[in-house]
This record gives sequence, C-alpha cells and structure tokens, in this order.
Amino acid sequence: MNKDYPIINADVLILGGGSAGVMAAIRAKELNPNQKVVVFEKGDMKYSGCIARGMDALNIVAIPEISTPELYVESNSIACEGIMDEPVNYRMAERSWEMMKKLEDWGVFFPKDENDQYDILQVHPKGKFCVTMKEPELKTILAKKAVDLGVKIINRTMAVRLLKDGDRISGAIGMNVRSGEIIVCKAKTVILSSGGTARFGLPDNGHLYGVYDYPGNTGDGYCLAYRAGAELSGFEYTLVYYIVKDINAPLLYITLTRGAKLFNAFNERKDQAHPSIRSMFKEHVMEDSGPMRINMNHLPEEKVKEIEELLFTTERPACERFYEGRGIDFRTGEIELWPTEVFLCGGHGLTGVRVNENAETAVPGLYAAGDTSLVARGHLSGAFVFGEISAESASEFAAKNGDVSLDEEQINAFISERDSRLAQNTNEIAIEEFEYKVRRRISDYIKPPKNEYKLDRALWWMDRFREELSTMVRVQDVHDLFKLFEVENIIQCATMSALASKERKESRWTPWHYRSDYPETNEQEFKKHIVLTQGERLEDVKISYAPIIRMDKEA
Ligand SMILES: Cc1cc2nc3c(=O)[nH]c(=O)nc-3n(C[C@H](O)[C@H](O)[C@H](O)COP(=O)(O)OP(=O)(O)OC[C@H]3O[C@@H](n4cnc5c(N)ncnc54)[C@H](O)[C@@H]3O)c2cc1C
Repeated sequence: MNKDYPIINADVLILGGGSAGVMAAIRAKELNPNQKVVVFEKGDMKYSGCIARGMDALNIVAIPEISTPELYVESNSIACEGIMDEPVNYRMAERSWEMMKKLEDWGVFFPKDENDQYDILQVHPKGKFCVTMKEPELKTILAKKAVDLGVKIINRTMAVRLLKDGDRISGAIGMNVRSGEIIVCKAKTVILSSGGTARFGLPDNGHLYGVYDYPGNTGDGYCLAYRAGAELSGFEYTLVYYIVKDINAPLLYITLTRGAKLFNAFNERKDQAHPSIRSMFKEHVMEDSGPMRINMNHLPEEKVKEIEELLFTTERPACERFYEGRGIDFRTGEIELWPTEVFLCGGHGLTGVRVNENAETAVPGLYAAGDTSLVARGHLSGAFVFGEISAESASEFAAKNGDVSLDEEQINAFISERDSRLAQNTNEIAIEEFEYKVRRRISDYIKPPKNEYKLDRALWWMDRFREELSTMVRVQDVHDLFKLFEVENIIQCATMSALASKERKESRWTPWHYRSDYPETNEQEFKKHIVLTQGERLEDVKISYAPIIRMDKEA
C-alpha cells in the first residue's frame, strides 16, 4: 500500500488511557511482556481521564470478613432497580480486594487507623464497600508503570474509527488532535476505554467544559462500538449529579461522612437520613426545596483540615482556588449545592457497551472496560478490575487467533471524510457556538423529567444538527476539526438517549428516567435492558430487548 500515514502493529490496542485503559495496558504487559500494547489517548495519559490526579475512595471493595461479592450484587441490584446483570457485577466485586491490595503494593495510600483498620464507609443500600484512599499521585503512578513496562503510548490522538476484517476487529484509526495527522494501528484486539459522555447536557454555569465528569469524554467509545456492530444499553439512564454549584466538583461524601451538616433551602437538616445524590436532586427539582448547603463550622479544626487536604490535593486541586475566589472558608461559610448537567456514564450509571464477565462485546476481538462499558455503577473499582479483565481476554484472543488484514478502503473513507470536513472553512458557525446550541437542546429535551413530546423534539433537533454539522459549521483548523468529530458523537449519543428514553415507557431510577407521561414503574413490561444497535445508517438506531442475566443464567 502506498499511503501518507504511518501504520503500526499491536496485539492489544487500547483506546483511551484513563483509569480502565491504563490498567488494561499494565495488565496486558504483565501477562506477556513481549506482546505489543499500544494506547491512543486523546489527552496526555499522565493526567487524563476522571482520575486526573487522585481520588478519595475506591467505591467498591469486598473486603473479606467485612462484606462479600454476593452482598454487593444484592446491594447494587437494589441501587439499579433490578436492571443489572449479576455475573459482571459479581466478577468485579470478587476481584476488587485483590485489586486494592495490588494498588497498595504499588504505593497507593489507603489510610488505616490505630487498630490497623481501613476507613470503610457505607454508600450502598446494603453493606460497606467504600474504602478511603488518599493518593494525589494515583494517575501518575499508574501511567509510569505502563511506560516502564514498555507500553507504547500515543498521546493527543483521538480514536476516530474502528477497522474490521470481516466480522473481526482489525485495529483503529487515530487522528492527532493538534496536527490532524492520521495514524493507523493494525491490531489483533481492541479495548474501548474512552469513558462516557461527559460533555452531554450544558452545565448551568454555561461553560462547555465546566462539567462534572472528565470533559474530554464525548461518547466516542459508545459511537465507535455502535458503528462496529456492538450492542449498547442504558441510554435512558440520564444522570444528573448534585454537587458544588458552579464548579461542579465533588465533595458530598467527603464532607458528610466526616460530620458536615446539610441543610435545604428551608433550613431543615438533611444529613441525618443518609441523603443520596439522587434523593437530593429529586428534592431540589421536584419539591423545589433546594439549593442545599453544606455547613462545617461546627467541626473541629483537625476535621476541616482533613477535608481540605482531601479536596485540595487528592480530588481536584482547582477547588482550593475556587473557594478562595468565592471567599468561602469551611470554618465559617457555607457551600451551596446545585444539580449538574445531564450526562451518560457506565461507571456512575448504567449506560454502556454490553459486555459479559470477560469484557467481551458482540464483536470478535473487541472488548470494553470502565465508563464505556456496562458494568453497572462500577465506578473506579469497575474501571480497574474490568481494565484487567479486558486485557486478559484480549491477550488470550490475540495469542490464539492469527493476524488481521487492513482494508485500505475503510481508511480512505475516513480520510475523505476528514478532508471534506476541512473544506468547510467558509461556513458561518463556529464549532463552539454550535456545540453550545446542541448541548442546550439536550438540556432542554433529554434532561429529566422527560415526556414523549420533549423526546420527539430532541430527535427532531438532532436530525437537524446532523445536517447542519456539514452545512453550517466552520472548520478553520485542526482544533475545529476534532471538536466537530466530538460534537458528531454527542449528537449521536443524544439520538440514542432520546430513542431509548422513548422506548422505556415507564419511570425508573427516578428522577433520572422520570417520564411525567408514565410516572409509574412497570415491572411487568420493563424489567429488561433496552438494547441499541446500528441499522443501515448511523442514524438508524435499532431497538431490541435483552433479559436481565442472573448468576444462575436464568432470565
Ligand atoms: C469527579 C469524579 C469523582 C469520582 N470519584 C470517585 C471515587 O471517589 N471513587 C470511585 O470509585 N469512583 C469515582 N469516580 C468514578 C471513576 O473515577 C470512574 O468511573 C472511572 O475513573 C472511569 O474510568 P474510565 O477509564 O472509564 O474513564 P476515564 O478515566 O475518564 O478515561 C477515559 C479516557 O479516554 C480518553 N478518550 C476519550 N475519548 C477518546 C478517544 N476518542 N480516543 C482516545 N482517547 C479518548 C480520555 O482522554 C480519557 O483519558 C469519580 C468520577 C468523577 C468524574
């Protein structure tokens, strides 16, 4: 082949070097140091993804003698209101303790008290699984490990298309987000670990990137999987978090579990009844009793310092500047909470590529892990454990199956598309303005509460936006170009979310899928997954159902 792009080879290609991706890369090299492991990462793996630096807890660890994987499955099933496949969740919990010990061996700090006990919090309906972690260098530790093991990391590279050899996956096309150059990776297996759709609805602060989840995640993994023939589910689970107003940064569990008080707008105490993000959002929106506020002025200095240390180092260091700017001192002031933008995510929610307990998708050679995959509410534990599982399955598949061939036509098709997008340089609308409008419509029509009228309006707008992406959006440089590909994925996710939401003619996970025209839960008809696959064209979304998978495999 005579072409102007490089082709590299991989046994395992990982798309997205966040929590799941970096763990998959490490595991693949641990298993076989001689296999070629490549990561395409849109940002820079050292600080990219949800972790960015560190995190205050590993949310699901079944610590022996304290809790069990069985209890976790029971507990999470309650939280998922029954829409949860048991085997994947069992597998995650079963390996969570081993995972935590491994992290500890690598130097990740899990504090213990004077009796040598971990700090374990209850955040699930049943059982204590949430273990405090204090590790501001979590991501850099993992990234360094991957580099030391010889993983080839290609930063600033957005995976734009998967490649197929017949039914089987054969690699992916990456595009450098700064130069627009194409790189092709011919790969025996591919792991999708590019997070959820963080840039979905528009946050109330109006900033495109001022979102709760990592803003580089624009549903690319979902769309790549969908285009390649994999199954998606849970797109009607439209999450809205309830956290610090304007910065959309977390602090709830960090403060409440350390004795902070919570008040609603009527000065009623709310912290005693173990409020969840879901119940707080419900009260704020549906009972109009918000905004709620966190108050810590009764806490001893050492507790306030502990909270500050966690928030200002481990979670998001930018929080310190935010509170300083607002003139808020935790010793005297209050922290106002507010609903975030609506977003889609497998780790906090139920949206994702359908995988089995081996992280396999419906496409041979294609695996998914972390927020891209559907391991319901797996959080960071799910990303790490399924990062490992996907690497184990992919490595085995790569070893057992022969080489793949590249289909030049698939690559040329993308290059033509890129070039025609670059030719849109005289169009009128800046991509940022367009993204703002798309996401405002998502907030208007897909953010819960929902109804048929709103969802139809969402679909009408998304069809129109799909067309305007070509006829109106201006692409002046490579920056605009890759933003356009991101916005195309956001539009596709919105279409899929509106369709799944229309299909689930009931209310479940209220308020996250609250249908004002179907306010009741319908166990009879809707205790099942709504599955999406691609039809003839990108916008032809096929809808089917799948039963809930139990441990004994009975539906
Ligand atoms: C603010 C916040 C706090 C949290 N706190 C906790 C907690 O305390 N405990 C807990 O257990 N869980 C927590 N979670 C959840 C947990 O962090 C996530 O579930 C987990 O990190 C998801 O990992 P991931 O690899 O799927 O996604 P990410 O870590 O976000 O990684 C996705 C990566 O893919 C890259 N990418 C995206 N698109 C492409 C593309 N097209 N090509 C190449 N690369 C791409 C991104 O740049 C990113 O690096 C928190 C999440 C958030 C957002």
